[in-house]
Amino acid sequence: MTSPSDSEPREDAAAVSRPPRPPWSAFQAALRGAGFHPSRRLGQNFLLDENLARAIARDAHLEAQEHVVEVGPGCGFLSVHLAHEDVELLAIEIDPRLAPIAAKFLEPYERARVVECDVLDGKHALNPEVLALLPQGDTPWHLVSNLPYAVSAPVLALVAEQPKPARTFTVLVQQEVADRLAASPATSDWGPLSASIQLTYDVTLGRPVPRGAFWPRPRVESRIVHGSVRQDLEPVEDRRVVRDLARALMGRRRQMVRRVLGDLMGDKDAAAARLAAAGIDGDVRTGALDLDQLSRLAKTPG
Ligand code: SAM
Repeated sequence: MTSPSDSEPREDAAAVSRPPRPPWSAFQAALRGAGFHPSRRLGQNFLLDENLARAIARDAHLEAQEHVVEVGPGCGFLSVHLAHEDVELLAIEIDPRLAPIAAKFLEPYERARVVECDVLDGKHALNPEVLALLPQGDTPWHLVSNLPYAVSAPVLALVAEQPKPARTFTVLVQQEVADRLAASPATSDWGPLSASIQLTYDVTLGRPVPRGAFWPRPRVESRIVHGSVRQDLEPVEDRRVVRDLARALMGRRRQMVRRVLGDLMGDKDAAAARLAAAGIDGDVRTGALDLDQLSRLAKTPG
């Protein structure tokens, strides 16, 4: 037996010790063996394309031993590709039929664990059980998931609103959600979700994913989206104030900001003065306000 030389890259040694990633057919057989039928309510469209699962794990640019959260591992196909990157993987699965299947496939990876619970606590909060499992202190964490459609927007918005949000996210979402996440101001996709995500993240659209890459086939196209925490990230309290203002104003996105703000403040003149102090034209539609304007307005007393 030959031993690796000192000059050999570290990844090579790690690769030798990694178990092989089972093909989709092994996951499919496990699902069939359990008599599994996918639930539309839980957004169960499983990724079956091995190249894509590998590409998602690679495009997330994870370093060995970094902390990664996967929401909805399903039967564990993408999870195995993530665990293969030698990361600390926390996979949160709501479906008690699937969590044990994912756990079984992840058994060879000592840094991976599956927790069976809802990632959400109602509509407006992440599950405290999940929050308690996130790394503490300055240790960063990353979100990498093929997100269930019904909760993709709230999960991302809630992750972005954390005092310590995920440092990056790499998620597979429906095209319509991807468009809203990456939207520019004054476009039809720009809205409260775009604003609250972009307050925390620089967002870029990744590769489109065809319907045929999933089982069962979804009705719409999907896309990978990447987010990376902004260099100039504001403290959580400031982000929340801007987010609340964006939600309140953009509920009436076609109306002029002076009118909507006047109604919110219950005083037209005070609203006009506040807009002037923030350097914002009151005739602009609320749906055209960009993040700088929203932030300035939130910081301007009125
Ligand atoms: N990661 C798998 C893959 O890529 O093939 C499955 C992704 S599938 C789109 C979404 C998964 O999220 C399902 O396994 C579903 O049961 C799970 N899920 C749905 N709602 C959830 C929730 N609120 N909390 C945790 N998991 C959830």
